Amino acid sequence: MKINNAAVAPSEPWTIFNNRMRSANQARHILPYKPVPHTERHHLLKSLFQNNSTLNDRVIYVHIPFCKSLCPFCIYSKQKMDYRETINAYCDTLLKQIQNVSASVWAQSAPFKAIFLGGGTPTAIPAENLTEIIRSIRKYYPLTTDCEITVESTVSEITSELCAKLKYAGVNRISLGVQSFNTKIRKKLGRISNTEKILEALDTIKKSGFNNIAIDLIYMLEGQTMETWRNDLQLLSGAPINGCSIYPLITKPGNLKVPENLEQEYHFFAEADNFLAELNGWKRFTPVQYGHSKNGNARYVTSHGQNADMLAFGTGAGGRIHNFMYLQGTAVNEFIKNGQNLTKAPMIGMVIDEKFLEFREIFGLSERMQLEKNGNVMAKQYFGDIIEDLIHAELVVEDENNWLLTKTGRFWAANISTLFSGRIAKLING
Ligand code: SF4
Repeated sequence: MKINNAAVAPSEPWTIFNNRMRSANQARHILPYKPVPHTERHHLLKSLFQNNSTLNDRVIYVHIPFCKSLCPFCIYSKQKMDYRETINAYCDTLLKQIQNVSASVWAQSAPFKAIFLGGGTPTAIPAENLTEIIRSIRKYYPLTTDCEITVESTVSEITSELCAKLKYAGVNRISLGVQSFNTKIRKKLGRISNTEKILEALDTIKKSGFNNIAIDLIYMLEGQTMETWRNDLQLLSGAPINGCSIYPLITKPGNLKVPENLEQEYHFFAEADNFLAELNGWKRFTPVQYGHSKNGNARYVTSHGQNADMLAFGTGAGGRIHNFMYLQGTAVNEFIKNGQNLTKAPMIGMVIDEKFLEFREIFGLSERMQLEKNGNVMAKQYFGDIIEDLIHAELVVEDENNWLLTKTGRFWAANISTLFSGRIAKLING
């Protein structure tokens, strides 16, 4: 295995692979998961839930699939706000799904360290529905004393009343979808709030007592230049936030077109990567996540690179328990009809060979940007040649104790994950 064009790495870091994979999730999907027939899934999940497990960290994801308006670039499972009856019925089913799983031995055997309510836009539904879901999880599940509880929201929905209700329900982190501070660029994304409104919303969240506030910014947007991007980063640095995620535009066919210009993409990435790591007190947590070194680490986000088990509730929600991965169906009506019990809910279920568990630590290098090398027999024996190639291409460097991703490595992190996934597939399938 040789990385394409490795020889040109130092001067043209955007040419190392032919195509850029833009999300670590895409990379994990090439692992050799095998579909579990509908008839067996019920037993498999049931038996997983009957066992104690303290092996992995664990987190909870809850999906609220409603938005007040739909953005043209969005890849998430969502639909326009529905009738109040539908919202109520969806939330009732969600509450039942949450409560049913909580009664299991597995759910009670170790505390969860993060809860994330995403969407869609969780705050698009009435605050009463949303806070009932949060309270229900807090009531029925064991949580760590410092459990991170995040709610995603959008600028136009932030009010001090909403923030007060969320805080009272136990939410301690708000993730605000910003994408760009630039009013003109935002309009092209179907976003109505201008720069001032974004800053006002962040101020409102902060004044409501939240000390853990994150935003996201996207590069490769229509109309974006290096000047507008730098301006976005400047505004970010003055905002009352302690974390942010930086992504390239990712869409699916039929949505906005992503400009194919890897060189430009690299420069946008590198500008943000340098700027954010040098912000006062900030550091990199993953190849896309930056934040204050004291409290800017989004535990839910970094849990992916730490192979945490994830209980996922709601339409389109993807979870993983031990070696079983599932993705719930996206149809709201189907969910309302059949979703009360997770083991019987509409979903795709897949398992991966138990051997995968021996190798998965390797993703620490691509997803957490470092991997301990001393005494790491597994990494050296099964991935040593790949790591050598990565070092040769200047995607990885090594110090006394660790292998570390370089800036170029961070840009290509998802591609590096696919190298590991591909090797694991070979090791398992022979
Ligand atoms: S970007 Fe957010 S608000 Fe826009 S459609 Fe997607 S989930 Fe809804």
